Amino acid sequence: MKIGVLSVQGAVSEHIRHLELCGTEAVAVKDSETIKQVSGLIIPGGESTTIGKLIEIFGLADLIRKRNREGSLAVFGTCAGMILIARDITDGIQGQQRLGLMDIAVKRNAFGRQRESFETELDFETFETPLTAVFIRAPIIEATGSGVVTLAKLPEGIVAARQGNLLATSFHPELTTDLRVHRYFVQMCRV
Ligand code: GLN
Repeated sequence: MKIGVLSVQGAVSEHIRHLELCGTEAVAVKDSETIKQVSGLIIPGGESTTIGKLIEIFGLADLIRKRNREGSLAVFGTCAGMILIARDITDGIQGQQRLGLMDIAVKRNAFGRQRESFETELDFETFETPLTAVFIRAPIIEATGSGVVTLAKLPEGIVAARQGNLLATSFHPELTTDLRVHRYFVQMCRV
């Protein structure tokens, strides 16, 4: 099984390293041929407006949508990646391009200037001990549809959720040495 990390912009190598440490073959993805070969795709943090434009220009967006909806491609969005897979962006820029796969509404840069980036201990559904979560100009999930399961939250809102073969985290699990979130996603790709 191979898992891809979308590599048009943003934090790619850390995700690849985490996937490899989970014992999975990992590959950087920037063309449609490679997307056809993977069972899962991580969309990394970065700038959601830029990544959204580039995946349309490179002709990747429709293929990702199609394979995810058919059930052959699990997708995990971290931070900007979470914004990109969300169906609604409550304060996105006008016409912000996105994949729109997951039944969630997200708010960009939801923690304000005071808390632009921070680390906190987080209870994550099914994990026995809390994980250290790193937030960088992070979004939150403000609303979820009926098929969405909340996996972690803070007082400000939901910061991790799953819907079938879709996983979203506001934070950056690739920036700590904890592999549990990546392992969780690897399991989703096996189904
Ligand atoms: N604030 C960024 C955006 O809106 C996301 C930040 C990140 O991915 N670390 O795209």
